[in-house]
Amino acid sequence: MLLMNPRTPKSGSLRFAALSALWVGCALWAVPALAQDLVIEHVTVVSPEKSTALQNATVTVHVGRIAAVSSASSRSGTHPPVRPREAQLLEGRGLYLVPGLIDSHVHLSSIPGMTDEQELAHPDIARAARAQIPRSYLYFGFTTLIDLISAPEAMGRWKSQSPIPDTYFCGGAALIDGYPMNYAPKPARYSAWPYMLIEQQATAALPPGIKASEHSPQAVVARMKADGAICVKTFFERGFGGVHDLPVPKPETIRALVEAAHAAGLPVFLHANADEAQTFGLDTGVDVLAHGLWNVKDMPSSDGITPQMKTILDRVIAAKVGWQPTIQVLYGLQDLFDPRILSDPMLARVLPRSLIDWYGSSEGQWFHDVLGKEVAESSGAKSHSEMTRPDLAAPIAAVKAATGYLAQHRARLLFGTDTPSAPTYANPPGLNAWLEMHRLLEAGVTPAQIFEMATLRNARALKLDQEIGTVEIGKRADLLLLRADPRQTVQAYDEIVKVIVGGRVLDRAELAADRAGSSTQ
Ligand SMILES: [Zn+2]
Repeated sequence: MLLMNPRTPKSGSLRFAALSALWVGCALWAVPALAQDLVIEHVTVVSPEKSTALQNATVTVHVGRIAAVSSASSRSGTHPPVRPREAQLLEGRGLYLVPGLIDSHVHLSSIPGMTDEQELAHPDIARAARAQIPRSYLYFGFTTLIDLISAPEAMGRWKSQSPIPDTYFCGGAALIDGYPMNYAPKPARYSAWPYMLIEQQATAALPPGIKASEHSPQAVVARMKADGAICVKTFFERGFGGVHDLPVPKPETIRALVEAAHAAGLPVFLHANADEAQTFGLDTGVDVLAHGLWNVKDMPSSDGITPQMKTILDRVIAAKVGWQPTIQVLYGLQDLFDPRILSDPMLARVLPRSLIDWYGSSEGQWFHDVLGKEVAESSGAKSHSEMTRPDLAAPIAAVKAATGYLAQHRARLLFGTDTPSAPTYANPPGLNAWLEMHRLLEAGVTPAQIFEMATLRNARALKLDQEIGTVEIGKRADLLLLRADPRQTVQAYDEIVKVIVGGRVLDRAELAADRAGSSTQ
């Protein structure tokens, strides 16, 4: 059976071969195949590397990978599409088969809107939430996630759930005491950020037990690579809200980080949403700007971009730097002040009822209150109890104009949501990507561009394109069966029939938080 797979899977294949040999010896008569083969018939294959769809196709999946793709008119398999005897059959007539989506910017360690202390205080709600969150990403078609700031322990916890999307992580190389380390209390922040950067002249004031030599760009990259990271995330942020003077790395530090990362085969993502930060990223040679451009000195007065923005965006286009608009980040702050969010039936599809109810409690409103007071204070409120909704119309207009300009000029836009970008419940898992797609449409990005951003472009940016991103022989069987063509409409991602992860077929309806008989209600 392994012979049918034209490409030997890299890791785990030997273990699998040994395991199946053992099985043949002792119990073949009693058990089904380890990973059931799958055949999808009469389906229209839409894959981002091809300009036209493959009609009336048969796609065969063997041991979790695509083994054959063929149609009546063309055949691109090394084997004829013979249906394996015990294969699961999916009838694809009238449906579209596309690669599973990739969100190249998520944060999975916390439950959105909950602090660690609140999670400990509400173990039942937390358990239900943690069981549902991976399913919610799958529900909206995301079969691969990249956690941009993680480490092996948090990844291990995430991967203890099933089913989950394929998940990879970047190590977070924050400058010591800079953004976003500044949010964690001292000294806990130093152990929470194992890949922090220390610049040479800071050595004198180091906390006990921390050695600068273990936090050079080279040492940090070596450690995260050994820990299994596939990318590096770093930051250029002087602060926002009440904070404006956080330390930022020197250009030579980030150039050295990029050099070490590239030598190790890891792309570098930079948190950058200000004009100064994006310019810094272009000057230091990072691979991806992990936010859109919204924090600009001269805000555009109309729909257009300012000359200063154009200078930055033209460099993004010329250097083919990856650029994640993450527009929904800004809406996720504003929407905390919209009470309708918690009664939106779409929210009930991705989060357990107990968590939604908790968000509505006075305790669950904590971040709303912090943000509302901060905004009120900065706008000169007189009373301590006054709260003000942040008005982000100007940065939203800027990032939409910038995104539209880049889409028009065929820049390397990548799909990433930054879910959740803050402790806000208005960036919910899975649903946030659906909302981001609509923000991209509003900015002038086409459904075909969104499809490519969330599949092949993301796969290439993460160097995962040998594994995922297209419907091609040898790739992981991470696939979606849809009722509509996603190159025509993003509505297709709410018309998912089946989500296939590594060859395992899941009914979309069974992934919903409010599915019948759900114990997470
Ligand atoms: Zn982020």
